[in-house]
Amino acid sequence: MNALALDYSVVSYQDFLDRFKNSLSSLFQKENIDKLSLSRGLPPNIWKEILNLKPLSVAIPKEFGGRGVKVKECLGILSAASYESLPLSLTFGINIALFLEPLAKYGNDLIKGDIFKHFLDYGAMGGLMITEPEYGSDALNMRTQNELKDQTYHIKGTKHWQGLTGLANYWLITSRNANAEGNLARDVDFFIADTHQPEQNIEVKEYYDNAGLYMIPYGLNKIDIKVPEKNKLIPESTGLKLMLDLLHRSRLQFPGMGMGFLKRMMNEAMTQCKERIVGASNLFTLDQVQYQLAKLQSFFALSSAMCAKSTLISGIDKDVSASGIHANSMKAFVTDMMQEASQILVQVSGAKGYRISHIGGRGIMDSRPFQIFEGSNEMLYTQISEGILKDMKKKKTENLADYLAINDLTKDAATLYQKELNFNISGPLSQRKMIDLGKIISRIVTVNDLIELNNAGFDQELTDNSVEIIRQEIVTLIASMNHHKNINAICDIDQTKSDWMNFF
Ligand SMILES: Cc1cc2nc3c(=O)[nH]c(=O)nc-3n(C[C@H](O)[C@H](O)[C@H](O)COP(=O)(O)OP(=O)(O)OC[C@H]3O[C@@H](n4cnc5c(N)ncnc54)[C@H](O)[C@@H]3O)c2cc1C
Repeated sequence: MNALALDYSVVSYQDFLDRFKNSLSSLFQKENIDKLSLSRGLPPNIWKEILNLKPLSVAIPKEFGGRGVKVKECLGILSAASYESLPLSLTFGINIALFLEPLAKYGNDLIKGDIFKHFLDYGAMGGLMITEPEYGSDALNMRTQNELKDQTYHIKGTKHWQGLTGLANYWLITSRNANAEGNLARDVDFFIADTHQPEQNIEVKEYYDNAGLYMIPYGLNKIDIKVPEKNKLIPESTGLKLMLDLLHRSRLQFPGMGMGFLKRMMNEAMTQCKERIVGASNLFTLDQVQYQLAKLQSFFALSSAMCAKSTLISGIDKDVSASGIHANSMKAFVTDMMQEASQILVQVSGAKGYRISHIGGRGIMDSRPFQIFEGSNEMLYTQISEGILKDMKKKKTENLADYLAINDLTKDAATLYQKELNFNISGPLSQRKMIDLGKIISRIVTVNDLIELNNAGFDQELTDNSVEIIRQEIVTLIASMNHHKNINAICDIDQTKSDWMNFF
């Protein structure tokens, strides 16, 4: 064992992170990450080299040999990885937020030590199984079931789209308890499966042809396993509350994956626009390009604010099961920014951006599912609005500006947009309006976090520009919200009257 491998748990975080960044960057230069990203999976020797840097030690408690599950360290690793490769960062995100943190917080002490050791010493990986073919957004109606027989849980069901399908050594599996009559409980239980044990192995029925994130295998998993009682996570109250705590923490840590990616899109776009001459000057001098670049810079600033805030509020020592508005705001907004940033980079890159070997071109498909998984963004924006409207009712306030001025999540930012937000909301809103409102709230929550970061010394110009970019977006969203008519999709389009060729 070399000296570096020995001291990863005690070196200063800055040294640990610098070594990780430098090693990853030189590894991906040597192995050509643009080429590697074109084939599915990563060669085992490259996984080995990456995992030898012990990136996952940041999400393992100190008493088990890790660096102590500090959110700042977890986000730093996610961000450093996503600067080089978004799929690599998502791989770490899955391991950290969907497996190691829940294990550290809710796992039985009888099994933790052995599992953490496998992650630290043997490069093990873990993932989370929630989604089923018939139950995606509607996950709480899942059909995978568990039954306790002779101190062993039998778990049966079908899951699909699990990140690291067929590759992870450990799985956190959700299921519902079946009673003697075969009825499923409303609550959700979490079990750990160790695929090294024959009775706990999960059969992969099919690998999917995911359109991006080639590095990560996805597929259809058949579950028919037996696990000991100690493999069940121990909820503080209900399994549903555990699930909310787990998912909200994960959503609060999405900005770690967004941060490095957004910084990379910004840096690439800046370089491209300064170097590319079109006509008499470079792209940088064009007004529309200036607007696009200013947007990318605001994405960088806003995701920095999210990371800073997440560091303060999303540790495993905190209960975030009730932090839905903050968590949903961060997840939905940062993933919208990721998709828009890759679109902007491709646009300013011209045709050369439209190559799968170009980080922007790849970025469009790699970042796209972030708007779908762990709660589709439409669902999350709707939930944000529901939470806010409920609280407005409770506080007997109809004026949005007045309400946001008294909500801790928004109060500092609300004063900046007082004029724009000075309107009343009364009565129920259609879902399309709820989504506009959810987007508005998420942007204000994030500017609120940006003000906090700015008060701690973050760049003034970046902050001021971001405040104005968000003002522009809020005004557009308010206009959209006010002008939505209830235009419904036509169920069956009349084929004869809708073919333009019939009329000329
Ligand atoms: C790349 C990728 C990685 C994934 N990783 C994992 C993983 O690691 N583990 C895991 O268990 N699952 C994972 N998933 C599955 C993912 O969580 C589900 O795909 C997601 O929950 C949506 O479920 P669904 O695909 O069944 O879509 P559906 O539930 O059929 O929804 C389809 C669409 O309908 C719309 N919609 C749904 N509900 C609402 C609503 N209330 N309001 C408005 N619009 C709505 C949304 O646009 C949504 O995208 C992953 C998926 C992808 C694509």
